[in-house]
Amino acid sequence: MTTLAPPITVPAGAPSMRDAFGRRIDYLRISVTDRCDLRCRYCMSETMRFLPRDELLTLDELADVADAFVARGVKRIRLTGGEPLSRRGLPDLARAIGRHIATGALDELTLTTNATKLADHAEALAAAGVRRINVSLDSLDPDRFRHITRTGDLAQVMTGIAAGKAAGIAIKINMVALKGFNEDEIVPMLLWCGEQGFELTLIETMPLGVVDEDRTDRYLPLDGVRRDLEQRFTLTPDAHRSGGPARYVRVAETGGRLGLITPLTDNFCEGCNRMRVTVQGRLTMCLGHADDVDLKQALRGGGRAALDAAIDEALFRKPERHHFEIAGRGAAPALARHMSVTGG
Ligand code: SAM
Ligand code: SF4
Repeated sequence: MTTLAPPITVPAGAPSMRDAFGRRIDYLRISVTDRCDLRCRYCMSETMRFLPRDELLTLDELADVADAFVARGVKRIRLTGGEPLSRRGLPDLARAIGRHIATGALDELTLTTNATKLADHAEALAAAGVRRINVSLDSLDPDRFRHITRTGDLAQVMTGIAAGKAAGIAIKINMVALKGFNEDEIVPMLLWCGEQGFELTLIETMPLGVVDEDRTDRYLPLDGVRRDLEQRFTLTPDAHRSGGPARYVRVAETGGRLGLITPLTDNFCEGCNRMRVTVQGRLTMCLGHADDVDLKQALRGGGRAALDAAIDEALFRKPERHHFEIAGRGAAPALARHMSVTGG
């Protein structure tokens, strides 16, 4: 087991951060690795090159980053990647961050995972204070699942999901809606999630990083999906806000909640409450902009004052909105940076 230094004790009720547009920033996503055991076609190319290990922040440094943000008023932290459960010692990091929940300084620690290794870690995550996780699942058909992930075993993922549920962790399924691939599975997925007591969030494919396919062919606008679903289900707007880009509806027939993330058909930047830290220690202010602030130098030489100054700089530079669009066929992606680097 990795031993992380005990975290600083942050008093509950730290003042919140505001960016230059007055938005309150209280949500941090930390990408703990850019590596992954799967190769989802919209996310990575088959020959994806990963960062050299010596460029990565250590678990202690990642815990220090979390401490600094909690001290600045961040209330929710999500661990992501790449595949976070591929990072050795991840449950120890979760435990270190989870201590802030016990003191009341942090409201929530969550995780986004492909669930291939969830069976091994669900209990430890629950014990660390993780109450909710997002699991990415684009198909309930084993052959299609293998196709979209290139290597994935659906049965292994289902075992992981069952272990998470058994550990008392609430599960939300993230499904990237892909034209001509899983359109016909949206209704079955909605029904399955209803049966399981899981929320479902549908996501439009975003133009991040070069992959082997042309995303133009797969882009499925969710406004049309919603109209189709309304033919069959009673959808009523739900006031629930996760503080993120999803808009929610209640599905009367399943009793469940459905989220729609539509970065391309809809702009959700006005209420943006988040920043992201990459595993190289780059603090990114917007998924749709290349700009970032280096935290690694501050972590390795400057101490807490330097870290705070870097966070202030990022708050000042956080842009008002993203400018995503799926450009024409064959065009370069909006950003060279893959989602697996910034974390979804
Ligand atoms: N490996 C974990 C997983 O798949 O849940 C966490 C990282 S993954 C990058 C986070 C989320 O980003 C997943 O739900 C995935 O489907 C989504 N994602 C990855 N690339 C995307 C893209 N280009 N457009 C939209 N969603 C994407
Ligand atoms: Fe891995 Fe998640 Fe990207 Fe799929 S979406 S390749 S599981 S990081």
